[in-house]
Amino acid sequence: MDKPFWEVFVSHSTSGKDCVNGVARNLRDKLRPALSPTYEVHVDATGIHVGDKWEPWIHKTLDRSQIGIVLLDTHAASKSKWVKRESTLLSARPSVESVIAVLIGITRRDITEKYPDFDFLKDRQMIDAAECTTEADIEREADRVLGLITDRLRQATDGMPTADVTMTRALSYTFDLYDDEVDSITERFFAEQLKTRGDRPLFPNQWLAKFIIDDQLGESALGAIEDVTFKLDRADHAVRILLSSWILWSEAMPISTERPPPPDPRTPVLLTDDPHVAERYVARAYGCARSQINTERFDPSANGEQTPAQVVAELFSGVRGKGCARAHDNTCAKHALRPQHVLMSAPGGIESAAQVIKAIHERCPSTVVILMVKPDDYAKFDDAGMDELLGAAYRPIERIDAERERRFHDNQAHIRDVVKNSGGSW
Ligand SMILES: [Zn+2]
Repeated sequence: MDKPFWEVFVSHSTSGKDCVNGVARNLRDKLRPALSPTYEVHVDATGIHVGDKWEPWIHKTLDRSQIGIVLLDTHAASKSKWVKRESTLLSARPSVESVIAVLIGITRRDITEKYPDFDFLKDRQMIDAAECTTEADIEREADRVLGLITDRLRQATDGMPTADVTMTRALSYTFDLYDDEVDSITERFFAEQLKTRGDRPLFPNQWLAKFIIDDQLGESALGAIEDVTFKLDRADHAVRILLSSWILWSEAMPISTERPPPPDPRTPVLLTDDPHVAERYVARAYGCARSQINTERFDPSANGEQTPAQVVAELFSGVRGKGCARAHDNTCAKHALRPQHVLMSAPGGIESAAQVIKAIHERCPSTVVILMVKPDDYAKFDDAGMDELLGAAYRPIERIDAERERRFHDNQAHIRDVVKNSGGSW
């Protein structure tokens, strides 16, 4: 075999001078020889992190990788900001099909309680490993975990994120179709996809839903939508799913939080100044489930010159944030259970928006502020600049695919009409 089938990106923190020679380091050295030649393994064993070559290196490498492996030991979780950055980027990258997190000497509960920065890994495949001290134990544990990783890699491309399974099912429930109608629509618009669909455990109407979602408002999806009959009482849900399907879950994922929200403040930064687009991202992040979607549009400069404190007081003056107040454990004492999202535009500039965001999180760390910035404005700061402005709260979101966004704008009114007039259970 000349060229490897897949490329794997390994995020770890085992190259610095204060790193221990534990299971993570042993695994790091084993992965490349074990997985080649089917997989090409990208692992920074030279400490590139320290220099300024990191940024170009990671972007170039991530673009080529389909699989991410995160080696999370206590050093990586508590001391390395690189592993956080890399694993966030890995999870947000649409080209990365699968992320496997190896928890070394860390429990899933530790993630929630001690390392909430890594909370998003809970949606991914996880392998539990022990940290060891003697050479022999380290070797044995690393070999065991390596076996588990290789077992999973064979099926890595066949895994669907839970959020996508839920959304696929939800869309299929909105169809009002007999089996032969499902088959005929699927064959007409998705003949190619049918041939290569693999053997996932889905029913025919779920396959149709999946093909429609995967097409991201392309021509086949639009054609199929016109031929599907939707249940009247589920039409709203169908519209919500369809209008968000141009975004991949992995692209919207940095927006989502758990219920109740974790205590670490979050500011996903979205490269758009269009709140309609931002709302679709929020919907996609929650699999379009109505109960989780709660957004408020907010322009901090709308009332002229105000201090961040005044702006924030205004934001929380509505019913929604009446009780919000930071408690001693960095949670919000009065926050409603479901995540609350503020879609914040930044016409007054990113720096002043960052001040307001800090003030919001002072008041309520649970509010997820989605900062909408124009790509041009963002270009002035780039990733490192945003990191500096927003600190640990910063969650990068991939640049929006302009072509897909155009399909959303061009077709949203049409899709609404088609679904609502589809002649379902009238
Ligand atoms: Zn709150």
